[in-house]
Amino acid sequence: MDYEYDRVEVPTDGTPVEVIDEEADELDVPEDPIVPIIHGDGVGTDVGPTAQRVLDAAAEATGHEVAWMRVFAGESGREQYDENLPDDTVNAIDEFHVAIKGPLTTPVGAGYRSLNVALRQTLDFYANVRPTFHLDGVPSPVSEPGQMDLVTFRENTEDVYAGIEWEAGTDEVEQVREFVEDEMGFDETIHDGPVGIGVKPISEYGSKRLIRRAIDYALEHDRDSVTLVHKGNIMKFTEGAFADWGYEVAKEEYGDEVITEDTLWEERDGEQPDDAVVIDDRIADNMLQQVLTRTDQYDVMATMNLNGDYISDACGAQIGGLGVAPGANFGDARCLAEPVHGSAPKYAGQDKVNPTAMILSGRIMLEYLGWTDAADLVRDAVEAQIVSGEVTYDIERNREDATRIGTSEFADGVVDHIEDLA
Ligand code: NAP
Repeated sequence: MDYEYDRVEVPTDGTPVEVIDEEADELDVPEDPIVPIIHGDGVGTDVGPTAQRVLDAAAEATGHEVAWMRVFAGESGREQYDENLPDDTVNAIDEFHVAIKGPLTTPVGAGYRSLNVALRQTLDFYANVRPTFHLDGVPSPVSEPGQMDLVTFRENTEDVYAGIEWEAGTDEVEQVREFVEDEMGFDETIHDGPVGIGVKPISEYGSKRLIRRAIDYALEHDRDSVTLVHKGNIMKFTEGAFADWGYEVAKEEYGDEVITEDTLWEERDGEQPDDAVVIDDRIADNMLQQVLTRTDQYDVMATMNLNGDYISDACGAQIGGLGVAPGANFGDARCLAEPVHGSAPKYAGQDKVNPTAMILSGRIMLEYLGWTDAADLVRDAVEAQIVSGEVTYDIERNREDATRIGTSEFADGVVDHIEDLA
């Protein structure tokens, strides 16, 4: 196969991941897949190469090999191409299906679009997935962080993030006001005077494909339940519709494999079935309480874009914060793993920050490649390193028994544990 890239080389020692069935998210993964990697801006220069080293060790220990293809975006994109998001980078992620990136800085100021949002939209990564589980030895603000083992599926392409909004004082916003008041009949709803107006699209298509993905995950990973999170009591036709479409997908596409919470109580006396996932829903504000007060009752959450942003960060705080919070974006037959944290510019290049979030994002990627043995090894090795007490500053400052080490020394320790545990 011939590839056309301007300034990056396709590794000759690897084989492309092929798609078997895009809609069914089925891939043919070789033993030596080509995987594009963006190290990222700021602390990305610390955690990117470090995570790559750890993932290599886990792959090697389990009989695989990753053929990395270094691609560029953000600052490195501007250096190499004079562009924030070069076509080479987008094409490589598109062509090789499975990729990983470090954080990218969004410069403050007019005219800069978030590169992360641009990448997600261009390649239709419609599900942002954040597994939140506690690793032994990570300090937490709650008394029993181990109760949290929750995976959030956050819709990534619509809601108020669609960017359909008009600034107060413009002709456009006045046209929208006129339409809403005169043609749609909401004549006393908007206050007089300057107003900004935004539109919140929630589609059946966008909701169902996200919720389907959450249910599939729950079934594949033996999870007990999927919770639809929404504010449908107030926004009936957007948030309420999200929940309705969720129940519809469950009923029409999964038959007995998914039962509602009502059925669970009416027909099964509340007994969790071995052979089915329970689908339920919670109002978003209640859900923020529930993850704190009844943490262990929740397994998988499906949320719209904004609710997911808030709730997954709150969950992340419960298990130790940004240094340890991994994530990944999924589309049909594609995955772009990335940590939740940003580029933390004040720590850039200091070999200081915690690489765990980036390493565990890589673990999600390994799972997606079907390398569960390598993925398990990564988790166990990271946990063993944290338990050892030799940890980065963010953990050390909240533990009395710990010694502070840098990013690369932490990764050396993780690699040693991988070799010991393999
Ligand atoms: P941030 O980079 O996530 O950093 C906020 C704070 O989180 C840091 O000051 C640090 O806390 C802690 N932190 C972050 N990463 C850590 C790590 N690996 N280990 C330990 N602690 C870590 O958020 P920000 O300062 O708001 O954003 C900076 C830039 O990143 C912005 O340009 C933003 O747009 C961008 N961003 C990118 C992404 C992405 O690429 N997906 C995501 C979010 C933000 P302490 O100061 O308490 O030590």
